[in-house]
Amino acid sequence: MCGIAGITDTPNVSVSLYWALYALQHRGQESAGIFTYDGKSVQKHKGYGLVSEVFNGPILESLAGKTGIGHVRYPTTGGSKPENIQPFHFMFRGHVLSLVHNGNLVNTNELRYEYEGRGHIFSTTSDTEVIAAILANEIIHDHTPDEAVSYCMRMIRGSYAVIFMLDGILYAFRDPLGIKPLCLGKIENGGFILASESVALDSVGAIFVRDVVPGESVRLEDGTVYSRKMMKAKSCAHCVFEYIYFARADSIIDGVSVYDVRRRTGELLAKQAPAKADLISPVPDSGTAAATGYSRESRIPFREALIKNRYTGRTFIMPSQEKREIAVRMKLNPVRGHIKDKSVVLVDDSIVRGTTSKKILSLVREFGAKEIHLRIASPQIIAPCYLGTDFPTRSELIASMKPVAEVEKEIQATSLAHISLEGLIEAIGIPREDLCLGCLTGKYPVAIDGEEEEKRGITMVDSYSRPSKV
Ligand code: SF4
Repeated sequence: MCGIAGITDTPNVSVSLYWALYALQHRGQESAGIFTYDGKSVQKHKGYGLVSEVFNGPILESLAGKTGIGHVRYPTTGGSKPENIQPFHFMFRGHVLSLVHNGNLVNTNELRYEYEGRGHIFSTTSDTEVIAAILANEIIHDHTPDEAVSYCMRMIRGSYAVIFMLDGILYAFRDPLGIKPLCLGKIENGGFILASESVALDSVGAIFVRDVVPGESVRLEDGTVYSRKMMKAKSCAHCVFEYIYFARADSIIDGVSVYDVRRRTGELLAKQAPAKADLISPVPDSGTAAATGYSRESRIPFREALIKNRYTGRTFIMPSQEKREIAVRMKLNPVRGHIKDKSVVLVDDSIVRGTTSKKILSLVREFGAKEIHLRIASPQIIAPCYLGTDFPTRSELIASMKPVAEVEKEIQATSLAHISLEGLIEAIGIPREDLCLGCLTGKYPVAIDGEEEEKRGITMVDSYSRPSKV
């Protein structure tokens, strides 16, 4: 999780970044930050809270400049500490470097150890600072920013979409497997925008140009996109949970509409796990598109059994279980008239620990539902994620510990069914070998200590493409 954005050549860039981050708010609600370059120095503001809580008119006005970067954070590596709020900022040998990162490195400790041995002192526990340290170290040693990125990508392992601003120029790079999304858009006034999801482009009226290609590094300068392919892999490993849950339904990621994927999962679920019911209801919001697909395929009416209070956060990304459980009650309220004495199919995106599903089902039962058939638009999550999602350890993942029949009993569902792995892959429409399915299969696209690896044949490449005007 985490959402990142960078914008060039745009007057009042802080305001555009504000709207971009606002559109990416679902990717992280713990903290937000915007740094801009005013031609001489970097203007900075960041803090805990939602984008609308961290920034106001006077703060945005104080963030002068035409180029800047921004971040919304969901804590993974490094934990919930104020010093880990991004963007990060560094000054060395006359250079200023500001940087944002979405993803998770799996070799942070080794790299920290190595750079500490060279005398580097870290001031945060974040893997993002390790990326910055490598870049800065290369630039200090008279390497060009492109060379610094190339070396950095050679050193780091894991998932990363990075945007950085070096002396006022914007750069970005994406891991060779394309695990985390990053796309590029063109703003009407001549500037460019880089962002985790296409909804951020829409929010500033930008035209989608393309996704940053896995293994690619870009520099945005003088109205030109300079692209360099740094690494290549035999196949990609796009995170399937972007399609299942993380991304906004109105985003297009790596050429695939998130809404369409979710609708198709619902259609396939209706075929794979039909149920006799009076109505199909989503668990809002991430179950909504799948529920419309289930309803369309089953011809059972779509009717909302639960209404979401729009002013509460996403429960899964709240940092503690206790907060998550209180949030469920605050967030969802059943529509008694829709469910009393009815058989209901509830469609949700996933089950992680099972506690949220149990709470939701108990609510729906309390309001009079006769039967509750729970349909899940993802296969069982059986293994942790090391690549940026805060899934718990195997012992906390309910599907890792128990078969479906036992989970069904534990959450007191009339019936419980998940979409099959094949069904999910069909719904996404990207070949299996180009997807990360680590948390669903226990086989990961990168080497992780103690886990099985599905090798992707990553190699460095060394070819500059010609600067392209967009
Ligand atoms: S392990 Fe799961 S959540 Fe993590 S990147 Fe892979 S598909 Fe996404």
